Amino acid sequence: MAAAAAAAAASGSGSQEQRATAARLKAALSPGGCEEGEAASASASAELRALLERVLLPCPSGEAASPSSSEALSWCRSLLAGGEPWDGFVQAVRAYDPATLCGLVWTANFVAYRCRTCGISPCMSLCAECFHHGDHAGHDYNMFRSQAGGACDCGDGNVMREAGFCKRHRIKSSSEVPSVPKDLLIMSELVLPQFIFYLIQYLREGYNEPVLDLPSEKDLHKVLQMLEPHISFLEDLTKMGGAMRSVLTQVLTNQQFYKDLSSGSGENACVKKSHEKYLVALKGSGLTFPEDKLACGVQEPGAGASSSVVQGLRNAFKIKSS
Ligand SMILES: [Zn+2]
Ligand SMILES: [Zn+2]
Ligand SMILES: [Zn+2]
Repeated sequence: MAAAAAAAAASGSGSQEQRATAARLKAALSPGGCEEGEAASASASAELRALLERVLLPCPSGEAASPSSSEALSWCRSLLAGGEPWDGFVQAVRAYDPATLCGLVWTANFVAYRCRTCGISPCMSLCAECFHHGDHAGHDYNMFRSQAGGACDCGDGNVMREAGFCKRHRIKSSSEVPSVPKDLLIMSELVLPQFIFYLIQYLREGYNEPVLDLPSEKDLHKVLQMLEPHISFLEDLTKMGGAMRSVLTQVLTNQQFYKDLSSGSGENACVKKSHEKYLVALKGSGLTFPEDKLACGVQEPGAGASSSVVQGLRNAFKIKSS
């Protein structure tokens, strides 16, 4: 049983229990998917909140240790996929990618490809996935280790010939990309705001006022190291294409979400403590409380998103508005 659960976790599909719970929650939360109506949907949404708090929140309120990050992420995958196998979900979301360019960005030491037959510009480069899904048989290509980082040019007709585009990035007319079915991303829309919210709680916990010069119990580097699996999970999501990226963009630019994030509302003691830290840091930074801006009726586009935290997250996750 434990071995089966471990195998399921390794394949990224979650345990049977996780998948059953996810499928039940998704059915109750999908629009029109619940026969018992609004009450059942409200209770499912409360259950989902409590579940995410239990698996994701940094400081355990009781004696019980926090679930490991692999367990937390396995829960998140099960939930996002609504109990379906993760790989199938990834493929399904990718089918709704309206992007015609790959644009995958990489840092130093990433293995990439260059095809001189397809390249118009001598510095064209392709990510491994685009290279393998394109037809470069008999071409003059090589694999190389990127020195300074770069980006995939697949789909960009200014840099390479169309014949070398991979299957995913061949020129599509907009009519070829079907609109996303309502229930495919419903769980992502519900889970990801909370996921990002808890991520920020962790980051706040690791932050110490530089002026206080306290010996930090948990410095930011350690927290970032610990969050490495969570951040790569978000990175994997951004690679699922435009449909998932637009869910993430909506979360990160949503004013109400940012307001909730900054208001410290809620009962949880850890969230309250984190909010106090936030207020101290905000005072020291000379920035205004977003609440004040919103109250004054300043409705600049994306006011929430312009905050440094959210902007930083966007940069960190390389999320492009689509
Ligand atoms: Zn690519
Ligand atoms: Zn491609
Ligand atoms: Zn080629």
